[in-house]
Amino acid sequence: MKKAIYPGSFDPVTLGHIDVIERASKLFDYLIIGVLNNRAKNPLFSVEERVSMLEKVSEALPNVEVRSFGGLTVDFAKDCGANAVVRGLRAVTDFEYELQIAQLNRVISPVIDTVFLTTNLKYAYLSSSTVKEVAAFGGDISSFVTPYVENAIHKKLAKKRDSLGTE
Ligand code: ADP
Repeated sequence: MKKAIYPGSFDPVTLGHIDVIERASKLFDYLIIGVLNNRAKNPLFSVEERVSMLEKVSEALPNVEVRSFGGLTVDFAKDCGANAVVRGLRAVTDFEYELQIAQLNRVISPVIDTVFLTTNLKYAYLSSSTVKEVAAFGGDISSFVTPYVENAIHKKLAKKRDSLGTE
């Protein structure tokens, strides 16, 4: 069985991520989306919330599972019994960073390969941080995320504004 992991922050999941998930789920027999538990990055959504949003958007894909992880990506891949790491490439700026990480991972664990999927051009400009920025300034994010995620972002931002207002 060809198993792969797709690790990332997914804070939150965008249509660009979903496109990669759908394509990777066709390339591999089984795909495990790994949500990085990265408190240092000060995410908008907790790891549990990010896992739950990913479960929702991938529920129609029977060979896709969502898990959270901390620590090294290659260790997570080994724990999952996967020998491939899927990453998405949007632009040359992604490439430099991704190549460095892939080479590093290869030295740490030569049995695990990184597979890059180039972005669907429709989503080449899309990142979780730009979606959050547009939403924070009241912009329309309906063409960047699913309606469920859109609603979750608005709720989260409203809660954040309320807590700032009452401080
Ligand atoms: P990380 O913090 O690990 O970069 P992200 O959630 O930002 O986590 O991204 C996870 C993966 O998805 C990365 O490989 C990233 O390049 C890829 N990705 C993000 N947005 C897109 C997109 N619009 N199209 C294709 N790949 C994307």
